[in-house]
Amino acid sequence: MKAASRSDLYRKLPSVDDLLRDAAIASLIAREGHTAVADAARAVLAQWRGEISAGHLDSADIDLALSGLAGAVEHQLRRALTYSLRTVINATGVILHTNLGRAPLADSAVGHIRETATGYSNLEFDTSTGERGKRDVHVDRLFQKLLNNEFVGEGARTTQANVSSIVVNNNAAAVLLALNTLAEGGEVIVSRGELVEIGGSFRIPDVMSKSGAILREIGTTNRTRITDYEGAIHENTRLLLRVHRSNFQISGFTEQPSLEELVSLSRKRGIPLMEDLGSGALFDLRSVGIGGEPGVIDSLHAGVDVITYSGDKLLGGPQAGILSGRPHLIARMRSNSLFRALRVDKLTYAAMEATLLAYVKRDHDTIPALRLMRLSKEEIGARAEAVTQKVRLPRLSLEVIDGESVIGGGAAPSAVLPTRLLAVTCEGSSADELAARLRASDPPIIARVEESRVLLDLRTVFAEQDESIAVALNRLGRE
Ligand SMILES: *Cc1c(COP(=O)(O)O)cnc(C)c1O
Repeated sequence: MKAASRSDLYRKLPSVDDLLRDAAIASLIAREGHTAVADAARAVLAQWRGEISAGHLDSADIDLALSGLAGAVEHQLRRALTYSLRTVINATGVILHTNLGRAPLADSAVGHIRETATGYSNLEFDTSTGERGKRDVHVDRLFQKLLNNEFVGEGARTTQANVSSIVVNNNAAAVLLALNTLAEGGEVIVSRGELVEIGGSFRIPDVMSKSGAILREIGTTNRTRITDYEGAIHENTRLLLRVHRSNFQISGFTEQPSLEELVSLSRKRGIPLMEDLGSGALFDLRSVGIGGEPGVIDSLHAGVDVITYSGDKLLGGPQAGILSGRPHLIARMRSNSLFRALRVDKLTYAAMEATLLAYVKRDHDTIPALRLMRLSKEEIGARAEAVTQKVRLPRLSLEVIDGESVIGGGAAPSAVLPTRLLAVTCEGSSADELAARLRASDPPIIARVEESRVLLDLRTVFAEQDESIAVALNRLGRE
């Protein structure tokens, strides 16, 4: 038989109107409404037309497709009416994975969001006076407790009597607000080794120019000395800025002044020192074996005037940018009209307040990011072994091997934790194909591919999701 021409193939497709008269479709319309079903029917027909035009469908394929038409429309409808944003299983071992939503929230944070969101709240209302209040008091109170208590505890090392904090949309916004408030029209001194780009197009020189401050670059990529800062200060200098190198390291012939040297220069010349910490841990990472990550407390102790950090990185809370520092400087930021434009909503305050309260109560394990960091390699290995026990298919080969989990989210790239990985290979499939099939599971499972194996790190998988992984692997082995 001669192959049908494209136009013959197109002619086999019904019109939308014909399609909507089909009995099975009519019952869909009764359930979901005419508009939604007609949209779905149009989408299905358009997709088939596209496939005909690409030469992917022949006459027999179209007959087959037409017999399942009602099902295809229903499937399309279901896709159109479900959420696009959905849960995935993070088996990458990257704890703060920006593409997968960074820090998962604590249950208490979700509970407090629910309470606050479903009714009215005292967001900006002082119930004792009946007058207007400020939205930032709710979290500043807890930041004070966390940051100032530490100073009291440290006795002689106390360098700042008081610290206040405000919250904006994200750390990029915090940096913008700080530069605009403290340095608009003036110069900000930054080392060339710290003119960084963080994923998602946050670049220090760009934020600087948007803020209206003038970037004064000093030193070289690998070496900057305190005398470089000193030599660049003149009457138009407003700020010394240090930026944490979140996503890269410079090694070899390098030099960078210590925070203490910068603090003493800043004091001597009366120019504030700001540090963009990026991750900003409130939790001592040394307790999980990670050194060299700057903590919020360390920087405040050293005498930095203003620090900026993210809410959803090492802090383990909602997306936010936090500015902590000397009260008179933070007060200036609060009265900048940009603060109003960058402010966060009640949901963020609710999540932040609950997260900070967990720190105050030293309930670190209720904060998922911290809990995942504290899992031992042995615990993770035992879970990986248990998954392999549930997967019994000849084509799949599973092995539990040593590996490393990554903190991610702007902790030093060398910040890794020992873990046990589930290494999977499948006869007749490449590792990339296998990874794609895992992503097509429901919920999608996101894994790493290394050395032609799929690697699953259960550190970032919640224990109740282990079963889904076993089920998905069994299905893969059978397909
Ligand atoms: C992550 C990061 C930022 C950006 O923070 P967001 O909260 O993502 O806006 C800025 N500076 C540094 C050093 C960072 O690590």
